[in-house]
Amino acid sequence: MKIIMLGAPGAGKGTQAKMLAKEYGIPHISTGDIFRANIKNGTQLGMEAKKYMDQGLLVPDELTVKILLDRVAQEDCKNGYVLDGFPRTIPQAEVLDQALNNLGDQIDYAIDVDVPDENIINRMSGRRACLSCGATYHVVHIPPKAEGVCDTCGQALVLRDDDKPETVKSRLEVYHKQTQPLIEFYSKKGVLRSVDGTVDMQDVFAAIKAILS
Ligand code: ADP
Ligand code: ADP
Ligand code: ZN
Repeated sequence: MKIIMLGAPGAGKGTQAKMLAKEYGIPHISTGDIFRANIKNGTQLGMEAKKYMDQGLLVPDELTVKILLDRVAQEDCKNGYVLDGFPRTIPQAEVLDQALNNLGDQIDYAIDVDVPDENIINRMSGRRACLSCGATYHVVHIPPKAEGVCDTCGQALVLRDDDKPETVKSRLEVYHKQTQPLIEFYSKKGVLRSVDGTVDMQDVFAAIKAILS
């Protein structure tokens, strides 16, 4: 099963993608997580990506596409994967499409997690991330067992630099301009499904599972 998660920053793509990956035994692939891991390790790629991420802009397609194609070519992706945060532009979607075509393959579903802009700032300002294992929490809606500490790996949780309200505004603008057109792209292919992302995370998950089964 090859699944793409679509939706605004903070819509809950990552939260759902992790649950799906566990449920179906397929890898969860987040380009944002890959970039953040590179920033943390001080790689060349990380330094390049950070310039864009800090401003709420997209990392250039060329760089992003290469990383993604390398990742999905790995052995653990043979039976499928859930993509979270990729594609984010039409050119990215076209490259992925072509790469799959060449293998006689295609995306099964693109799931749009729909959350209005008004809810997004609240989601982002309350988001706390573990930069060690990629787990994500919300101080009110999905709190960790102990405040500020990751349930899974015990590391300290952080507010991401790009989750500050000024940057979130730019990211929303970028989303509407560059990423939202993907909804029509996948709709034309007949693989788009939408779910209401404003309800409880378990209810969002149930709606997605109903689509996939
Ligand atoms: P969120 O889950 O809140 O949408 P991500 O972790 O997916 O955030 O992405 C964080 C940042 O990483 C983006 O704002 C962008 O700068 C960069 N990024 C992640 N994925 C992509 C992509 N597919 N194309 C370009 N930039 C990306
Ligand atoms: P995305 O990957 O789309 O940027 P996340 O999955 O990181 O979004 O979710 C953004 C924030 O909202 C996180 O703090 C997360 O814990 C929280 N969140 C996710 N799903 C829900 C939900 N259904 N209801 C309330 N908060 C949620
Ligand atoms: Zn952790």
